[in-house]
Order: sequence, then structure tokens, then C-alpha cells
Amino acid sequence: MDTLILDPTDENIAKAAKILADGGLVAFPTETVYGLGADALNEDAVKRVYEAKGRPSDNPMIVHISRASDIGQTTRMLSPDIVNLIDNFWPGPLTLVVKKRDEIPKTTTGGLDTVAVRLPDNETARKLINLAGVPVAAPSANLSGRPSPTTYEHVVEDLNGKVDVILKGEPCRVGIESTVLDMTGDTPMILRPGILTAEQLEAAIGKKVEIDPAALRTANEMKEIAEGRKTDDVIPKAPGMKYKHYAPKAEMLIVEGARDNVKREIERLKGLNEKLGSKVGVILFEERAFIEAAHDFFARLRDLDNEGVDLILAGALSDTDGVGFAVMNRMLKSAGYNIVKV
Ligand code: AMP
Ligand code: MG
Repeated sequence: MDTLILDPTDENIAKAAKILADGGLVAFPTETVYGLGADALNEDAVKRVYEAKGRPSDNPMIVHISRASDIGQTTRMLSPDIVNLIDNFWPGPLTLVVKKRDEIPKTTTGGLDTVAVRLPDNETARKLINLAGVPVAAPSANLSGRPSPTTYEHVVEDLNGKVDVILKGEPCRVGIESTVLDMTGDTPMILRPGILTAEQLEAAIGKKVEIDPAALRTANEMKEIAEGRKTDDVIPKAPGMKYKHYAPKAEMLIVEGARDNVKREIERLKGLNEKLGSKVGVILFEERAFIEAAHDFFARLRDLDNEGVDLILAGALSDTDGVGFAVMNRMLKSAGYNIVKV
């Protein structure tokens, strides 16, 4: 398939919107990561998204809308908390999981009765969705398993020839995917951590927000589960979280501990590996520069892959619940939970 790679002019956005409305696939910028969109109401179009990405079909998609009032297209149930969250955080990097309307096909929600909805804070995205006139199902615009795309060049790398249109845009402002908040239970629960933290959400609704125990498991637990030494008794509520994710082509090891020790150990391991002929890349963010880490992390993985490194050594971010925790959630998956403590 020939992919149109277009500047985000009004004329091109209108052209892309028409293609989207007719069942085509359009990649577009958002403030979090680039998305690969299809008409959320068109099962054939949604199936083509799964095919283009090589994504397992039980991994649900986020439905994107262009104005808050359109949430009625996806759900009939709007609690005061949901309205409050929308008022405070939309447009923005917050995805709300709500009870779905019958009109949203299960192909879009990976077979679930709930649907994840978001209003992105990006003008091109909103114009596109508005002109298409339908809610837009859009996972991240990468091949399944690869790091999420934060520039349009990343999208071209993964999806050129597999989708109808790639709309160009700026590098993504946030750089990691949205916070996914489940609003269907008694207590709001973060299924996927993001740049909006539990603390910020709690401040807006005046009640406790929990973090899904599956997202809180330690690297050691995950390793034990992977190696069959422990049974997995926590079922992730965000189905996508069980899949191998964000993996660079290189091997990857995280080094965790006090800052000076981490630096020293990374240098030592780098030296040892280089002596043996390996090409080594390092990801070490400034201490507590979590926003910057979120912005750069996926792009760093792709850059190092393009440089052809064999091994990536990354310094762990020490943060238990904030933005650093959200980046660590991605870093642990990229490294296949490979971590050493110093
Ligand atoms: P991606 O589209 O790659 O950003 O991933 C979207 C993620 O949102 C999925 O992997 C799920 O973790 C989460 N998600 C989407 N829909 C639902 C839902 N109905 N219930 C729970 N989690 C969801
Ligand atoms: Mg994704």
C-alpha cells in the first residue's frame, strides 16, 4: 500500500478525515504519543489497525473524541466524578474507562463491556476527529511490541506502506502514553500510570485513587512469574499490560540504587562489555528530571537501536508513585524486567 505522508495543513487534514470516515487508517500526532486511528464504529477498519500493528485482538483501543460532550457517543453513564475529571483534565493525557454503549463494537474494546475514552490536547488530532465525524479508535502508532512513537519519523519507520495516511506533526510534548483511569469500580483505579499522577487526580475529585496491583508488581516478581517460579495471581485489569512492550532490539539492563553507585556500575559494565566487543548505549537521566525522562525515553530507545547498539544500560528512576514511576513502568517492560541492584 502507498502511504501518504502529509503536512498537517487544513486541506490535508480534511483529506485524511475523509479517508478515516471511509474506513481507512490514519496516523496522527497527539500530545502523548502518535496514534494510529480508525473509525471506532467500523469493525473492519478497527480490525485493519490490529493487522497493521500486529497487535493481539484482545488488547483494547482507546477511543478518541474531539470535544468533551462527544463522550455521550461512547457511554451513557456519567458520574459526578467522571464529569469532574473531564472538567479538570480534558483535553489532556487522561483516558477514562467507562461502561460502553452498545454502539461501540467489542472489536474496538477487545471484547470488554467497558470502553476507554480520551480527548487529546493536540489541534491536528482534534481537527481530524471532528472532520471525520466519528469517534476514532487509536492505539499507539508503532508496530506491536516496539517503543511507542513520539515523532512522525518513528511512525514512518514502523508503518510506512501499512497505513493510508501519516499526518506529520511536532515531537510529542509528553512522550509517554496517557494515564488510564478505570471509573467503573467503587474506587477509581489507575490501570496504566502516566504523566497525570494519582495525587493530581485525587486532588481533583477529593477521594482516594488506587493503582492497579498489576502495575505495582516489582521486577523480581515479574521475573519469577516469567520463569514459572511463581504463579501469576494478579490479573491485569488493563489487558494490554500483559503483553511484551516497548522493546528495543538491543538487550537491556536496568541498574538500580543510589545515584553514585548506579553511575559507577553503569560505567563498569559498559567497560566490561565493550572490552568483549559489544556496542553499549547508556540511558541515564538527570536526577528527578522525570518530565524530561518521559519526554525522551522512547525516542532514546529508538535512537540507540538505530545506532546498532547491542546492549542498553539504563539508570532506574527512583519514584514510587509519580511521573518517574510512570516512566519506570515503561523502562521495566522494555528491559523485560531485567534489573540489578547496587
Ligand atoms: P495503546 O492503545 O497502545 O495506548 O494501549 C491502550 C491501553 O489502554 C490498552 O493496552 C489497555 O491497557 C488500556 N485500555 C483500553 N481500553 C480499556 C478498557 N476498556 N479497560 C481497561 N483498559 C483499557
Ligand atoms: Mg501502545
